[in-house]
Amino acid sequence: MDPRNGVPVGDAVVVGGGLAGMLAVGALLDHVDTVTVVERDRYPAEPVFRKGVPQSRHLHVFLTGGQHALEALLPGALAELEAAGARRLEAPRDFLTRAPSGWNRRYHEGRHSMVSCTRPVFDATVRARVLADAAKSRTRVAVLEGSEAVGLLGGADRVTGLRVRSRDAGRAERELPADLVVDASGRGSRTPRWLAELGRRPPREEVVDAGIAYTTQMFRPAAPLDAGVAVQARPDCPRGAVWCPVEDGNWLLTLAGVRGHHPPTDPAGVLDFVASLDEPHLRDHVRADEAVAPAYGFRDTSNRRRRYEAPGGVPDGLVVVSDAACTFNPIYGQGMSVAAMSARALRDVVSIGDLQAPGFAAAAQTATARAGDTAWLTAVGADRPYAAADRTTPPGLPERLRTWYFDRLVARAAIDRTVGAAFRDITFLTATPNRLLSPAVALRTLLLPRRPGLAGPPIHQRSTVG
Ligand SMILES: Cc1cc2nc3c(=O)[nH]c(=O)nc-3n(C[C@H](O)[C@H](O)[C@H](O)COP(=O)(O)OP(=O)(O)OC[C@H]3O[C@@H](n4cnc5c(N)ncnc54)[C@H](O)[C@@H]3O)c2cc1C
Repeated sequence: MDPRNGVPVGDAVVVGGGLAGMLAVGALLDHVDTVTVVERDRYPAEPVFRKGVPQSRHLHVFLTGGQHALEALLPGALAELEAAGARRLEAPRDFLTRAPSGWNRRYHEGRHSMVSCTRPVFDATVRARVLADAAKSRTRVAVLEGSEAVGLLGGADRVTGLRVRSRDAGRAERELPADLVVDASGRGSRTPRWLAELGRRPPREEVVDAGIAYTTQMFRPAAPLDAGVAVQARPDCPRGAVWCPVEDGNWLLTLAGVRGHHPPTDPAGVLDFVASLDEPHLRDHVRADEAVAPAYGFRDTSNRRRRYEAPGGVPDGLVVVSDAACTFNPIYGQGMSVAAMSARALRDVVSIGDLQAPGFAAAAQTATARAGDTAWLTAVGADRPYAAADRTTPPGLPERLRTWYFDRLVARAAIDRTVGAAFRDITFLTATPNRLLSPAVALRTLLLPRRPGLAGPPIHQRSTVG
């Protein structure tokens, strides 16, 4: 947009028409003349699995912070997700959670919820909404399906477009000139290599890998259930499970374990893994319920952040968002929420800035990266002890203190409304980690005696999932 008179200015190209790509289009609407989305896959007619989003067979919950951002960007989108079958689970009322110290109390708090549906339904709903908004906007949007981005145009200081190859017979290549290229191509992003081809240093990369593997299987419950279940890993049993409703009356069971405890994908192995969690409520459900799909595994769950927001991290004309810039251990359910929060940040920058101006891309990169800071800090903070399990030097005093405080805080959050609310504000991405150091939270964590959580799941309290 020309900030002087509110007229859309400039051409943008978005690499990847997945969730982050579509949210980026939503952010750019009415601020640029044209947006061309380059998507490698062809979208299926129905919301079903597609190859370009391999993680989409796994449970994907959408947290409060992401919900706020999505509504700011696409008002009414949450209602559209619920109309498409998504379930809303309020925390802690609709989720029975076994923390390492015992079961969390269950009550109506009214602060946080997660929206849950299968990923194909989530993506198709958001895509339909963005394309409907595009049709009414001043921005011309084109989606090139079956087209793969293969390189950047321009030089080390400014990206001027994208090289695209058709996936049809002939594999014709073409160039798409652009004032701004937004890379939303997910965890397999090739931008580091493309930058090197332009003579630019790839970004510094940080990796914290707890070595977790996932297995997910869809079930149809034999009896109605009124709450999801989360069994968290603990030092003596570094395995966990989440059992959560999605659309059409189905539930997804996701199993996770660190190295040496990776969940299997064969039917007997899945049941054995659930039994090994020593949680009869969940085990009995899974045994009684009908599996409606095979179990699928996923291994690459590391936290990986490419520091494009560092000074000189991106040339003019290029912004890298969502998984293409940063992935999180999926156990914390943050990636889609961060995609929405980053898109809102992109919208805020593009609505006041001139995307053709020098420094615009760096400003947009800083804003979108900042939107993921809390998610990154919490995920790597929680994973570092596991990631460091095989390191040769023992953790230093600051890290030991942090781990000690966090352990106490998690145990207190299971039984204490004040600490529980603060803990959820962070994990549902509506507050920064400083919230955990506020006097009320810190004093209760440090001074009140450490007590175990409930001995068993609070299943008899009424809840209304959905
Ligand atoms: C096992 C697992 C479970 C997860 N669970 C959760 C959860 O519970 N909650 C949550 O919020 N997040 C979760 N996540 C994270 C979430 O999946 C990602 O954060 C999210 O998909 C990021 O969206 P994206 O659009 O950046 O990438 P993607 O969804 O991966 O989309 C990338 C798109 O780019 C296209 N593409 C790729 N390369 C090219 C190219 N060269 N040219 C053209 N197109 C290209 C692909 O076809 C695809 O459409 C989970 C992740 C994993 C691995």
